[in-house]
Amino acid sequence: MCDFCGGPAHHGLIARRSVLKLGAAAAAALATAPHALAAPAAAPPKPENVLSPDAALARLMKGNDRYVEGVSKRHDFRHEREALSGGQNPFAAVLSCADSRIAPEYCFDTARGDVFVCRVAGNFASDDVTASLEYAVQVLNTPLIMVLGHESCGAVAATIKSIKDGTTLPGHLPALVAALAPAVNAVQGAAGDLLANATSRNVRLNVEKLKAAAPILKSFADDKKIRVVGGVYELRSGRVQLLT
Ligand SMILES: [Zn+2]
Repeated sequence: MCDFCGGPAHHGLIARRSVLKLGAAAAAALATAPHALAAPAAAPPKPENVLSPDAALARLMKGNDRYVEGVSKRHDFRHEREALSGGQNPFAAVLSCADSRIAPEYCFDTARGDVFVCRVAGNFASDDVTASLEYAVQVLNTPLIMVLGHESCGAVAATIKSIKDGTTLPGHLPALVAALAPAVNAVQGAAGDLLANATSRNVRLNVEKLKAAAPILKSFADDKKIRVVGGVYELRSGRVQLLT
């Protein structure tokens, strides 16, 4: 059943526009009745995904351990198709870079229906991404959001170069530079590697931005119904290092 209209499930057809509308609709609803848009208390398609924020993080990191050790599970979609055809209740949401080497579902050894993934070069929370994560939390009851940066991020490196050289990148790339510049500028002159420092700072800034995203994510975070955490993926080992 569709959480928006109550009719047959058609999540794959929900226009981005509809998801974006959620923010305004939810904001209005929350003003008078907190969490009014929460999903109905139907049986979740994956009961094992109903977890506390801490348990969700532990499960995510255990999956990363398996991935690092090369003992990932076999995920046979055939046995999950029917349960997931009626809905979804992912236990974690991940905001990842679009970099082809990361692949959150692989690096946390998760199956379909487990992780709600938003990807954009430089893993920053644009309004579109924030709205998508609001949908995951408010409608799908996802208890955990991870902002996942990674080593040798081309988007962060391009931002550093653009700022250093004082040049404007072609096409739409200046939009990425504008989004990542606060992280780069915040660590200019700091000890250590500028790219690594900027990557970590970018993750931290976006964790804070999502925690403060009123009214939806802020409300859930303040009530400790969700956790928002940051991590950095190591390219050689596959290990996700949590940022504290
Ligand atoms: Zn990247």
